[in-house]
Amino acid sequence: MMKPRVKLLGHTPEPDKLVSAAAKLCYSRVGAEDILEGLSPEKVDKFLNLLMEMGHQSPIEHASFTFAVEGVSRVLTHQLVRHRIASYSQQSQRYVKLDGFEYIIPPHIAGMPEARELFEKAMREDQEYYDRLVKLLYDSHYERLKNEEGDEKKARQAAEKMAIEDARYVFPNACETKIIFTMNARALHNFFRLRCCSRAQWEIRTLAEEMLKEVRRAAPILFKNAGPACLIGPCPEGKMSCGQAAGVREKFKNL
Ligand SMILES: Cc1cc2nc3c(=O)[nH]c(=O)nc-3n(C[C@H](O)[C@H](O)[C@H](O)COP(=O)(O)OP(=O)(O)OC[C@H]3O[C@@H](n4cnc5c(N)ncnc54)[C@H](O)[C@@H]3O)c2cc1C
Repeated sequence: MMKPRVKLLGHTPEPDKLVSAAAKLCYSRVGAEDILEGLSPEKVDKFLNLLMEMGHQSPIEHASFTFAVEGVSRVLTHQLVRHRIASYSQQSQRYVKLDGFEYIIPPHIAGMPEARELFEKAMREDQEYYDRLVKLLYDSHYERLKNEEGDEKKARQAAEKMAIEDARYVFPNACETKIIFTMNARALHNFFRLRCCSRAQWEIRTLAEEMLKEVRRAAPILFKNAGPACLIGPCPEGKMSCGQAAGVREKFKNL
């Protein structure tokens, strides 16, 4: 079964220090030339804690983090791209022909033989329908384009693109995909608050936890209190609360 693979591809150098320089600038007379001077780890810790306590969030927008993720479903990426304060690049089903598409099986289905068999049958059939549609569409486009353009190579390339961009409509939400995205630390805090919460679906929650581990390594102070809302206050979910705040807090403190 496919598991999400999460790689932090890159980030703003010394994110903790950079953000604390931005915070320091807001509250002192120091100019641009000297702003990084004297920013010892202790000072960085002090500035960032102050910032977080005050809820003064705009300075943390200066630090950005870029992730490469694969082994996730289109269900997940559809949820992910709802986070608008970010930049995304996703593998295209218009341009990439999927000869044997990979898919994500929800753990509950994977653990139930009868459900798994049904699920895998649906995936096999989807692939068959896709392949048959690609062939049908390709043949029809190719014949027309060859006659119109007179160039066989160009007609083949154009026909394949036109065939796969329509045939892909039969692919399921389970289809595996790859995506690269960049979020700043403020957008990430919002993302972790929503997607590390037990109310988020298992797949995006798993992704959020893996991302949180990565950014805590890169910027331990900036992200030490990042996680579901209950990590730093009462659960805001009301009737929808999982009622497990103490356990959740423990888990995310020691992630
Ligand atoms: C448990 C759960 C269930 C959900 N269920 C559904 C559902 O049933 N249907 C559905 O459609 N979505 C659903 N969502 C998606 C959710 O509504 C948000 O679209 C998604 O979580 C992105 O959050 P965001 O808008 O805070 O993030 P971002 O788009 O990254 O925005 C970050 C912040 O910027 C501000 N902001 C951004 N754009 C605007 C704007 N145009 N106007 C004002 N402020 C803005 C807001 O303060 C926002 O919180 C669900 C999310 C979760 C976590």
